[in-house]
Amino acid sequence: MNTTQIAAALFQLQQLDLELERVTAEQQAIVHSLSGDSTLQKLRAEHNTVQQQLRSGQQAQKDAEWALEDINRRLAMQEQRLYSGTVTNPKELSALQQEVQRLRAQQNRQEEITLEMMESTESLQEMAQRKAKLLQQAEEDWSKGNTALVTRRDQLETRRQELQTKRTQFTVSIDAELLKRYDAMRRSKQGRAVSKVEQNSCQWCRVILTASELQRVRISTELQMCSNCGRILYYDR
Ligand SMILES: [Zn+2]
Repeated sequence: MNTTQIAAALFQLQQLDLELERVTAEQQAIVHSLSGDSTLQKLRAEHNTVQQQLRSGQQAQKDAEWALEDINRRLAMQEQRLYSGTVTNPKELSALQQEVQRLRAQQNRQEEITLEMMESTESLQEMAQRKAKLLQQAEEDWSKGNTALVTRRDQLETRRQELQTKRTQFTVSIDAELLKRYDAMRRSKQGRAVSKVEQNSCQWCRVILTASELQRVRISTELQMCSNCGRILYYDR
């Protein structure tokens, strides 16, 4: 290989490496977004919370209903005694009347409590349904997006492997020392070790080459560097 061919090979290698970088970066971004969807996690937590609230609300409503039934039963019993005429002793009768009044007041209070419980359970039920719907929609959306992402990730992996194989094959024809130098330059020069000469200037830094510099890039037996940015110059005939 003459110098121009070597510079051309390095330039091609650089194109490969830039493509590899792009593919790897996109792949990493996808892996990251597949690992955790915070919106979905938040919706799941909210859905769980409202379900728990609903369950304890339903239990409290049941307790209130039982308590009311108990009062109703006791009240019915005492009323029956009061109106049956079996109690005739005035003292006993007065005590019974007081008991009936007490139970009626208790019944009113318990009816109010039960009604409140029912209303609260109803609104919790509505909220639970809303949250369940939101969660279901979000899960559907996620799995749709997920399928597309998984497909894209696999495509990128195939592409990355192709590029890697191509790179390995390609580097066989390049001198090992030169390859080391190229890799080191890529690390220190924003991934670009080689710069094309276009319209008599370095494509990377735009510095204009002198006539003798241009001449050397074309015919020298050694690789030429840009006097400004230090990159290997590649003259494409
Ligand atoms: Zn330059």
